Formats: sequence, structure tokens, C-alpha cells
Amino acid sequence: MRRVVVLGSTGSIGTQTLDVVRQHADKLEIVALAVNSSIDTLAKQAGEFGVKHLAVGDERLAGDARAVELAQLANAAGGSFGCGASAVADLVRLPEADIVVNALVGAAGLRASYETLAAGKVLALANKESLVVGGDLIMPLARKLDAAAGFQHALMPIDSEHGAIYQCLLGEDAAEVTRLWVTASGGPFRGRTRAELKDITPAQALAHPTWNMGAKISIDSSTLMNKGLEVIEAHHLFDMPYEKIEVVVQPQSAIHSMVEFADGSVKAHLGTTDMRIPIQFALSYPARWKAPVEPLDFRKLGTLEFAAPDVETFRCLELARIAGKTGGTLPCVMNAANEVAVATFLAERNSYLGIAECVEYVMDAHEVQTVESLEQLEQLDAWARACAMSWVDARV
Ligand code: MG
Repeated sequence: MRRVVVLGSTGSIGTQTLDVVRQHADKLEIVALAVNSSIDTLAKQAGEFGVKHLAVGDERLAGDARAVELAQLANAAGGSFGCGASAVADLVRLPEADIVVNALVGAAGLRASYETLAAGKVLALANKESLVVGGDLIMPLARKLDAAAGFQHALMPIDSEHGAIYQCLLGEDAAEVTRLWVTASGGPFRGRTRAELKDITPAQALAHPTWNMGAKISIDSSTLMNKGLEVIEAHHLFDMPYEKIEVVVQPQSAIHSMVEFADGSVKAHLGTTDMRIPIQFALSYPARWKAPVEPLDFRKLGTLEFAAPDVETFRCLELARIAGKTGGTLPCVMNAANEVAVATFLAERNSYLGIAECVEYVMDAHEVQTVESLEQLEQLDAWARACAMSWVDARV
């Protein structure tokens, strides 16, 4: 039995993780759940899965009547309940936890990732920001655990692209890898010009062609920032220089990513576009379990298209590459600026093209430092958010 902690259990990845647990109740058990603010859904999930340890990230909810009630229930069952980032971090240190699914949204996930690996638990990572912002702090912890265990398992990526690359690399020598091909669907605005993107509304940007995801990541997919974040993630996860990481548009999303080797061979990972597959692999590895998804039927698949990404129109991919290559604290600042730029776009306080403009403005304003601590990253994250807000406010 693998004992699982799910952070961000009411979001898209969180609910799909619970779905995987429902399918494999004989192999997986949920021991703790954390949400940002959806207390009602948390209570329902705790009831269904019989979970005793619960946390709510938003500490302003500590006095809420439902929180008080949930705390009483948890305590009566011999469990725990808390509000705030430290209560979330406490869950990952539970002695009964083996593996932590970190599906928190945004930079808030970094501390939880750090605490998970510091506690010696397996981190099944869906929170991109953990590596984008804190890769320099997270990866040494993961490598230390892997070195002690003798194989690479401490950090299991849940992103479909990184899960794909991880699987293509199984049994291979990393020194023989010449290129990682990270595939991109191209988002809902593939083929459009900048002029056509000027008046894009949140509703238009939220309609992703192939993957069903949360709001923030759907916008990031449409701007290609999501792919930029994934390039930085791949750099850290697979210890690969940026020169060896390419992005290719694959509109059908049937190929989830590819790895090219020294002899010119390329291994690709294909599958149905269902996030429950990469989630399940992260939980089942090294085994593969049956998944409740429709397998790919190549006879019906038709054409597989490939194209270079349009980095002129979709500036965010290039900005992320610059941030990654520059390294240090620039990815942290870029990520925070992007979170504000996307949130203000969703709130109709920023234009669609304003997302990249805002991110670039904040990146230019930042004096890059070497990454030293979580506290430093949290401070710079706050600075970048304020800087991005001032840019947005000046435009309204
Ligand atoms: Mg992805």
C-alpha cells in the first residue's frame, strides 16, 4: 500500500489524482489532504476517503465555522487540522506518508516541495513553479535522496511532457542524450498574428484545444508561457543544458515529448491526452497499472503534424528561455510577474498581449542574484508581484 498526501486536492490535478486512487484502492491510500480554500469540497473528500489529516492553505479561514467543525472532526478521529502554509507543510512530514502529490497552484507550492524532499518523501510534482523558481534548491535534495536509494525516484514529474521524457530516459545513459523535444499543442491561438490577439478575452483564452486544465495553466498554455516554464522544468529535472532542449508544436498532443540520442535515434512517448495517465505513473512507478482510459487508436489518429513555435507572436516562450538561461533569481521573478499578469488578465484589468509586456517589464527591472534560500525567493517573489501590479495599475 502506498500512502499518499495530496496537496491541492480540489484542483484539476488533485481531483484526477483522487480518481486514480479510487481505481486502485487496493494499492493506494490517502493519508492527508490540503486545499487552498475550498473547505466544503475538502470535507467531502475527507469523508469519502476516510482522511484524518487535513489542511487549508488560506490562513484567513482559520476562524471559519466550517474550519472549526472540520478541526473537531479531525481531532476526534485522532488526526489533525490546520490553516496556513505551515499546516500544509506539516502534512508532508507525517510519518505515515510515503509520497506527496504536490498539485498546489503557483509559487505557493515551492515550500511544500522543499519540505517533502527534506523529509525524505517521494515528491510527485505537478507544481511547475517548484522547479522553475526553486530548481536550484530542490534538485540537490532530490539527487541526494536518489543517490542514497541508488535510482532516480525521489522526484516524479506529473506534467505530461516530463513524465514522457522520464519514461523515454528509462534504461538510457543520460550522457548519450543529444536533445529533449518538449511538445506543445500550440494552444487555442496557434497560427494567429499579434494583431489578432489584441482583443482576446479570458473566455477565449480558457478554451484549450486538447487538455482539460485549471484557469492559470490554460492561460499559460495559450501564451506558451506554460511551455517556457516546462523548458526550465526540464532543464532542472533532467540536468540538461538549454541548448539541448527544443520545443516543437504537435497540435494533436498525441506525442507527449521525445528524446533524441547520440546515434540519431529518437524515442517518443505517445498516449491518450488524459492527465490521469501521468499521475498514475508517478504513483505506480516502477510498475504500470491498468488505467481507465481509452487507449490511442492509431487508425483513427490520422495525421501527426509538427511545426516550430511562433516565438515572435508568443513572446512568453522566449522570455522564459531568457530567464532560464540567465538563471539565478530571474526565473523566480519572471514566474511571479506572470502570475500577476495572468490574474489581472482574467480579472479583465490587463490585456492579453499585456501579459508578456508585464513579464518583460518586471524581468528588466530585476537585478539577478544567485539563489541562496527559500526566504530570498519568497522576498523576490513578493517584490516581483508588487512590480507587476504597479505596471498593471499604470495602464488602467
Ligand atoms: Mg504540460
